[in-house]
Amino acid sequence: IMQSEHMSDKTRVSYEAYQQAKEVIPGGVTANIKYFDPHPIVMKEAHGSRLIDVDGNKYIDYLLCYGALVLGHGHTAVKEAVNEQINQTGTFIFGSPHNLEYEMARKLVDLFPGIDMVRYTNSGLEATLLSIRLAKAYTGKRKVAKFEGHYHGGYDEMLISVNPDLDEAGEASTPNAVPESSGLGKEDLDNTIILPFNDLEGTRRILTERQDELSAVILEPIQSGFIPADESFMKGLREITEELGILLIFDEVKTGFRLTVGGAQSLYNIEPDITSLGKVLGGGFPVGAVGGKKEVMNIMAPDRGKDILTAGVKDDVKDDIMFHSGTYNGHPVVLAAGLATIQELEKPNVMQNLLEKTNLLRQQLELLYKNYSITMQTVGMGSIFNIIFTDYEIKNYRDLNHANMELRKQLDYELLNQGIYTKPMNRYSMSIAHTDEDIQQTVQAHERAIKLVLG
Ligand code: PLP
Repeated sequence: IMQSEHMSDKTRVSYEAYQQAKEVIPGGVTANIKYFDPHPIVMKEAHGSRLIDVDGNKYIDYLLCYGALVLGHGHTAVKEAVNEQINQTGTFIFGSPHNLEYEMARKLVDLFPGIDMVRYTNSGLEATLLSIRLAKAYTGKRKVAKFEGHYHGGYDEMLISVNPDLDEAGEASTPNAVPESSGLGKEDLDNTIILPFNDLEGTRRILTERQDELSAVILEPIQSGFIPADESFMKGLREITEELGILLIFDEVKTGFRLTVGGAQSLYNIEPDITSLGKVLGGGFPVGAVGGKKEVMNIMAPDRGKDILTAGVKDDVKDDIMFHSGTYNGHPVVLAAGLATIQELEKPNVMQNLLEKTNLLRQQLELLYKNYSITMQTVGMGSIFNIIFTDYEIKNYRDLNHANMELRKQLDYELLNQGIYTKPMNRYSMSIAHTDEDIQQTVQAHERAIKLVLG
């Protein structure tokens, strides 16, 4: 699509910055996911709903750091909380327990039905990694099942069948494990069992067959933040996993604070055994957390034997305490930012307004495309959605392959040109900083893009 080496004259400085970065940073990006052709756009400032790149172009930001910035860029409450934390304590980090760790944990326990206890990590990736190790240690089983098309962070065990080529992916109801990266081997593919999303019978069959090996099923309750699990599927999955002695892990890194404060589990009314959190939880700073049932979480308590020893049931004490560590876990500045973010979201009507605004944008876009007789639907739940050029109902990864990706791509590049920022082909995330005017400008930009692309 993009014939030229650089996007346009408007992004020449970005292109030069990318060329320079490429010399010392592979691909000029610090995460593969942040690269796009012909070159990523290099940013220099951001305020509220807006990003400004090194060429001085302004964008309405719908990427929002892959959904993390639910308050938009630089929200005052977060800035104040961070400054206050540093100024009052005199340090950035104690390196020992401190009260904010307790405060945030108590908050998460109150908000999430499946969380009795909490441990912190520094990213969503680490959160799912820890969740899976907990399940293995707790059940004594070694394998883990994930759904085709679901992303849980880029490590070997989960870097499988996220975005597989359908030629390699096999039958829809018994998907193959397909590696997403070089460096993975057969043992990685054998250790991760792939399940079909929103297909209860297929899932039941595979889980029943592999129950003796499987420690856990992990899923995004809303795939990629925009394809919700059917309620009956979710209920069925909870029942089967319980029946088979397989732990259920909700990866709520995206969904934790974007549908309601309390995650998809609150909406679905389902208690997972373990929950992985991240993104919004850090208010724009690097974070992850794992929450879960007491009996599961306590297997990593280093003082675990103590109570039981005191109670005089020495034989029950297992000496295999599960290890978890991290120099920066529970970082006070991060937790201060995260708590300030959650407090903003808990204010009356804030979440509701965010959801209404998202729905308004979705409706207006759908209306616009309808007026141009273009087959299009928005798919999503809460404050994240995607634009899909098909009229099929989208239930899983494979359904997305029926959509007109070429049109989407062309429009996304033109939209960048028109000041609408998301990485091409990415979903849209909304923030409380997005105004009605932003929504109007976004719809107008789409109209200009449609005219330019379709002539
Ligand atoms: N899980 C889900 C559902 C995610 O969306 C992501 C990130 O996009 C991760 C895990 C990994 O989180 P992080 O990028 O913070 O490591």
